[in-house]
Amino acid sequence: MDIVLLGAPGAGKGTQAELLAEWLSLPTVSSGVLFREAIEAGTPLGVRAKEYIDRGELVPDQVTVDMIAERLARPDCANGVILDGFPRTVAQAEALEGLLARMGRRLAVVAYLKVSPEVLVQRLSGRWTCANCGAVYHEVLHPEATKGVCDNCGSPLTQREDDTPEVQRRRIQVYTESTAPVIAYYRDKGLLSEVDGDQSVDAVQRDLRSVITAVQSQGGAG
Ligand code: AMP
Repeated sequence: MDIVLLGAPGAGKGTQAELLAEWLSLPTVSSGVLFREAIEAGTPLGVRAKEYIDRGELVPDQVTVDMIAERLARPDCANGVILDGFPRTVAQAEALEGLLARMGRRLAVVAYLKVSPEVLVQRLSGRWTCANCGAVYHEVLHPEATKGVCDNCGSPLTQREDDTPEVQRRRIQVYTESTAPVIAYYRDKGLLSEVDGDQSVDAVQRDLRSVITAVQSQGGAG
């Protein structure tokens, strides 16, 4: 089962993707996490991506699609994936359809986490991330068990460099210009399910699971 989570920066995609991954025993594929890993490792992809990420701009489509294609081809993705942060443009959405079709697959669910602007700002400001496994925490809304330490892997938590107010503003603007059309794209295809993302982590997860269960029971999990 292949699932896409859509939503603005700070909508909770990373947190919800991790919870879904555990529930469905599927890997999460997060373009943001993959870019940050490449930056950390100092690869040519990382050097290229950093120029864009630091400014809150999107990494070019071809670079992003190639990275995702390579990730989807790995054995752990054979039964499906939960995509977080990809696709972010209509061109990426079209490319994803092609990539999945070549593997004899198609998207089962596109869930849009709809979050009000005030909540987005609050979520982005208290966000901490594990640079090792990509898990996301929030000082108030979703704190880690031991301060500053990742619950999953025990690594230290850090704040993302692109979570500064100025870059955040640009990321939200880029989202409106480039990613909001992806919502319309999937809505037109009849694939979009909207979830109220202003709710608590548990309530959003509960709603996401009902959407997925409904699709599974219709046999649409191909
Ligand atoms: P995220 O962790 O999803 O918020 O992504 C962090 C940054 O990585 C974004 O602000 C973009 O600069 C870049 N990025 C992540 N995913 C994509 C994508 N699908 N297309 C282009 N750039 C991306």
